[in-house]
Amino acid sequence: MRWDGGERGGNIEDRRGLGPVATGGVGIGGLVLAAIGYFVFGISPQDTLQAVSDAGQGQQVQQQAGARGTPADRDAQFVDVIEQSTTDVWSQIFQRNGQTYHRTRGVVLYDQATGTGCGLGQTAMGPFYCPQDQKVYLDLSFWKELSGRFGAQGEAARAYVIAHEIGHHVQQLTGQTDRADRLGSHGATSGSVRLELQADCFAGVWAAHASEASGGQVSLDPKDVEDGLRAASAVGDDTLQREAQGRVVPDSFTHGTSAQRMRWFRTGVESGDPNACDTFSADQL
Ligand SMILES: [Zn+2]
Repeated sequence: MRWDGGERGGNIEDRRGLGPVATGGVGIGGLVLAAIGYFVFGISPQDTLQAVSDAGQGQQVQQQAGARGTPADRDAQFVDVIEQSTTDVWSQIFQRNGQTYHRTRGVVLYDQATGTGCGLGQTAMGPFYCPQDQKVYLDLSFWKELSGRFGAQGEAARAYVIAHEIGHHVQQLTGQTDRADRLGSHGATSGSVRLELQADCFAGVWAAHASEASGGQVSLDPKDVEDGLRAASAVGDDTLQREAQGRVVPDSFTHGTSAQRMRWFRTGVESGDPNACDTFSADQL
């Protein structure tokens, strides 16, 4: 995957090395421990809120703001370039529809735990988007998990993850998140699954336009797209469940199966059209 010459947008908030600050009398260690074992990839907003209320019992968590801009290390610069690339692509798409795209309020890099507009964010949740503060939260140690535990190697797999989270931001801007909320959050055809599969499709739409939107500075070749598909497959609910408990329980799906995630990512890549990503009207997911 090519990205070195891509524009660095500076829309990164670097909280690495800063711990979260809890108020309300409960130590942060207790909050963190309470939710260990809760692992989902690309957690949905409802799940985040649930996890936070389970863990924090309504505790307020505050956070020191991290430094904003482009961090010096290469891993963070990669995130910065991909965020800018998604901004370029979605700005053009919104513009063609006579609308203005407002980027996220930042991608927050943190380690272990951090305060978010959705409560306490933790590494165990995987990368997530918080609609309340319109930020993406990412602990870069997830990349090790992605390549090790999930077997999804390569920068394109990482880019897919970032583009998926930005896809949730696009959904927030276009009212899809509310649509999903009305359809409920449990079961194989729930609003939550439709929302996640649409975010996968939006990640594909980004991949389709990244090169043209960046003058060729950010681009994915067919092998990169395969890496993205492999990442989408690795984080399907059925695959994760089979690994964790040896069987698949569709009623507890929140993100969709591996096959569904790959199919919707591919739909986005091949169409390049967000209108092709209407998972809410699709009979067949
Ligand atoms: Zn997601």
